[in-house]
Amino acid sequence: MRVVVTGGAGFIGANLVRALLERAEVEHVTVIDDLSTGARENLAGLDVSFHEGSVLDRDLLDSAFAGADAVVHLAALPSVPRSLADPVSTHHANTTGTLQVLEAARRAGGPHVTAASSSSVYGANPELPKRESMAAMPTSPYAVSKLTAEAYLGAYHHSFGLPVLPFRFFNVFGPLQAPGHAYAAVVPAFVDAALAGRPLPVHGDGTQSRDFTYVGTVCRILTSAVLGRVTSPRPVNLAYGTRTSLLELAAEVERCTGRPVTLEHSAPRAGDVPHSQADSSRLRALFPDITAIGLHEGLARTVDWFRTRHAPLSGSR
Ligand code: NAD
Repeated sequence: MRVVVTGGAGFIGANLVRALLERAEVEHVTVIDDLSTGARENLAGLDVSFHEGSVLDRDLLDSAFAGADAVVHLAALPSVPRSLADPVSTHHANTTGTLQVLEAARRAGGPHVTAASSSSVYGANPELPKRESMAAMPTSPYAVSKLTAEAYLGAYHHSFGLPVLPFRFFNVFGPLQAPGHAYAAVVPAFVDAALAGRPLPVHGDGTQSRDFTYVGTVCRILTSAVLGRVTSPRPVNLAYGTRTSLLELAAEVERCTGRPVTLEHSAPRAGDVPHSQADSSRLRALFPDITAIGLHEGLARTVDWFRTRHAPLSGSR
């Protein structure tokens, strides 16, 4: 099987490439990445074909998709604050980029297309847990870009028979996730600060909660989806229904690093939702054999990686 990973030099993508290459069924992996937030070093030593460029480039997509059996589309500008600073760039990369990927898939004869949407599409809808059938109420340009992108996947399934699978990722964390940039996610920001002896940066009072998913679990699901050609025009939450506040996360980081932590609170971030927790019924029905790696185990592996990581991975954006 030949698999293309867009955004494969990014955090989730580079973990996924490793997971795919471990599978005997996967003959070849091709990566497309414009390195806007990812880093070539994330793929160092891996046997992949690397196409540096944008998913907005039609010719590049055609050459990368030739002969592909499956595409995992992860390329995006993946940040709420960034989308507030520059909504149009987010729209181009995330929405138009997804449309270009789907068009290229159609031209390539219809490989299976899995893509990353986001729990941010639930936005202002306060209901918990988040069920895929709930009304989406995006509160940021990023969330709109992801909602539109997943809707395109569904439309391409219904209009052109393309086998698709849009996943709504929640808060994914793990090795290769860079801490040193303005839009860093909370886990790498906390672990990096704890190991450096700095206070942990908390937006708001820290009672906001998230459904954290270890990247190894996400990669198991994505690999299984690709190999099994699992298809669903309707989006599927990719999280297991846990709920951890940032204050609880800080305590867990303290346990895993063995370093006493202090917190530094700042103003809540615009566009952030107070709570997020997945209903995982659809995910469990589609992937009954996969169990999630828990927060403690995932954080312990993440802390290990932080302690041994190579310098270029930090601050790569
Ligand atoms: P990341 O920034 O590490 O990876 C995104 C990759 O896409 C980067 O390597 C970047 O260089 C590349 N890219 C960006 N624009 C591109 C373009 N126009 N053409 C080609 N490549 C481009 O982020 P990530 O956390 O690995 O996210 C992967 C996907 O998962 C994204 O679609 C993101 O929106 C989604 N997602 C992630 C999370 C999370 O918790 N990490 C949560 C929800 C959704």
